[in-house]
Amino acid sequence: MIRIAVSGAAGRMGRTLAAVAATDEALEVVGGIDRVNLPAGEAQALGYPRIRAMESAGDVLRSADVVLDFSAPPGLSALLQLHGDALVGKALVVGTTGLGEEQHAALEAAERRSAVLVAANFSIGVNLLLSLAEQAARALPAGEYDVEIVETHHRQKVDAPSGTALALGAAVAAGRGGALEALRRDGRSGRTGERPPGEIGFHALRGGRVAGEHRVLFLGGRERIELAHAAMERTVFAEGALAAARWIAGRPPGRYQMREVLGV
Ligand code: NAD
Repeated sequence: MIRIAVSGAAGRMGRTLAAVAATDEALEVVGGIDRVNLPAGEAQALGYPRIRAMESAGDVLRSADVVLDFSAPPGLSALLQLHGDALVGKALVVGTTGLGEEQHAALEAAERRSAVLVAANFSIGVNLLLSLAEQAARALPAGEYDVEIVETHHRQKVDAPSGTALALGAAVAAGRGGALEALRRDGRSGRTGERPPGEIGFHALRGGRVAGEHRVLFLGGRERIELAHAAMERTVFAEGALAAARWIAGRPPGRYQMREVLGV
């Protein structure tokens, strides 16, 4: 039995993770972490035996083999800063997006003492799309095919472009032997001038209840190729994250990738 704890337990993904984990005989949900302590009845209604505030989450973390973080960047920072010692020898699966330099540096420190896997998207379809986008970018020259990435998410999403869109952009850049930062262009407005070759454009649509849709367009002079993925339910992310939890439990400290879990 693999014991899991979830940071961001009361959120949309936290609740979905508990519901999916409850159907998996290999997993036991030992507790959740969120902004505040919840009464036992409220925690149980969300699928957790207990939900503790971040500051008092030591007991939840100590009883877990794998800790999943689906909170927000400050939540991940707090988890790593306040509970670094409790996480030693455990595995950490991070799905939180919109991470900045502070979180990346803290994760690099954490991977020396814990097994760490970070993915902006845990669905098998998006992980397949990442390798297809890299392959397409390698085959379609930057001077002839312009790449634009369009994503749509529900109205509550707080970061843009989505972590998945940025991961797709990084895959395109890698396929063309470059790095995303030098090529990234977020949205366009006003007198933009002509589009430079090689630029990777990002466009974020927000509204309704869309779980997550991504399109990578390769726009050539005479033809257009589109790679697209739509998540119909949040459970695809939860299933992938729990597959990662089963796979990473007990592994030595270091950084692991979702493609190793999925074999894609
Ligand atoms: P949400 O807002 O519904 O839930 C986030 C939860 O984290 C909330 O309950 C909130 O109270 C808690 N939280 C936030 N900051 C905290 C802090 N400092 N300390 C303690 N708890 C804190 O959001 P969501 O839709 O569940 O998404 C959560 C994260 O997961 C987002 O970053 C989202 O982009 C990401 N996400 C990733 C994937 C993936 O496959 N990797 C899929 C869906 C969502």
